[in-house]
Amino acid sequence: MFLEPHFKGQRSGWIEVICGSMFSGKTEELIRRLKRAKIANQKVEIFKPIIDTRYAEESVVSHDANAIIAKPIASSMELLDLAEGVSVVGVDEAQFFDLNLPQVCQQLALRGIRVIVAGLDMDYRGKPFGPIPDLLAVGEYITKVHAICQHCGNLATHSYRLSDDEGTVVLGEKDRYEARCRTCYHMGNILSLQVKEVPQVEEVEKVKTQKKMDF
Ligand SMILES: [Zn+2]
Repeated sequence: MFLEPHFKGQRSGWIEVICGSMFSGKTEELIRRLKRAKIANQKVEIFKPIIDTRYAEESVVSHDANAIIAKPIASSMELLDLAEGVSVVGVDEAQFFDLNLPQVCQQLALRGIRVIVAGLDMDYRGKPFGPIPDLLAVGEYITKVHAICQHCGNLATHSYRLSDDEGTVVLGEKDRYEARCRTCYHMGNILSLQVKEVPQVEEVEKVKTQKKMDF
């Protein structure tokens, strides 16, 4: 588990990045860190890209409905003004922000702000997603969280898209994506087909009986 650095007597601005696939608990981890800062009476603000309208307009909502209020913004540059007087800035769904986000986060960190960014590290094609790769390079603390592969139970690093929609920005809903490990991700839709073709229990029993009779 990530533990905040002990910064007494040190300069306080830095960047934390929480990345991983879908269903890996990125937002939950972001919320955990922000809530703890809030309890310590630090001034906390949370932002998300305006494109993420899956849930309530004004909140970061993790999949377990553990919500905290977030401001939707259109451009990462807006953070420079909005973070005035704030000690901890959270950014959710950071992969959908523009490519200025790493630069903006660095400016905030220089002002002494603790910046916590959460986002998908790879899109559904397995490619590094938007500003996340650069944030991983410039951040002080990186946490990669994992989901569980829905096919084999290993740690999942990839978000497999079940729909044929071509755009990169298809927001997360359980029925459109699966968390998969590297191997299952590369098996593609063969896995979905295999699941459908598994014979019913009665049929398996029939085959067993037939085999017995053959002997
Ligand atoms: Zn797997």
